[in-house]
Amino acid sequence: MIIAIDGPAASGKGTLGNRLAAHFGLRHLDTGLIYRSVAKAVLDAGGHPGDVVAAAAAAKSLDPSHFDEVALKAHSISEAASVVSAIPAVREALLAFQREFAARPPGAVLDGRDIGTVICPDADVKIYVTATPEVRARRRAAEYKAQGRSIGEAEVLADILNRDRRDQSRTIAPLRQAPDAHLLDTTHLDIDAAIRAAIHIVEASRAGRGRG
Ligand code: C5P
Repeated sequence: MIIAIDGPAASGKGTLGNRLAAHFGLRHLDTGLIYRSVAKAVLDAGGHPGDVVAAAAAAKSLDPSHFDEVALKAHSISEAASVVSAIPAVREALLAFQREFAARPPGAVLDGRDIGTVICPDADVKIYVTATPEVRARRRAAEYKAQGRSIGEAEVLADILNRDRRDQSRTIAPLRQAPDAHLLDTTHLDIDAAIRAAIHIVEASRAGRGRG
């Protein structure tokens, strides 16, 4: 089974993906980490994330078996990840890895921006997770605070709005809800309620397809 989760920045896709994968015995790939890795490699080499040649080279030499999740999730990497991810050669270089990850038995949960539309258009279940920008910013700022990183809600909100705008308006693989994706709005749900709702969507979809 392949489950595709897409949605805007800080919508809780990673947590949902992780918990759904554990529940259904699937592997999980947070594809945002891949773009964050590319961005970090470019920045660490003293380059600019908008440098097409440097970003494409970093994407081609990426080792997806080694993600330093804490370092990659840093606020300072988010914006650069959004810039490198709009470069067609970067997305092209990362496509095969994501599809292979999804196809390996027993299947996987992938979360990102273009999973249901580009990476796994035939996924068994597609979920589009969202919440208002203000709620997403509040949750992300609280996460940073819990990790001892102090980044104000207003700064997080500005980053979220900026990235959403770029991710939705780029010409390659823009963020959008696939026509056959189930919408999960978590604005008024806590994490446990959101997970229950997502499990319900998956189970109902499988039953509907005669696999329940
Ligand atoms: O999901 P996360 O916020 O970690 O993603 C960081 C950035 O990577 C996003 O703002 C987006 O520009 C990019 N991304 C993407 N396609 C994906 C996953 C992430 O373009 N499938």
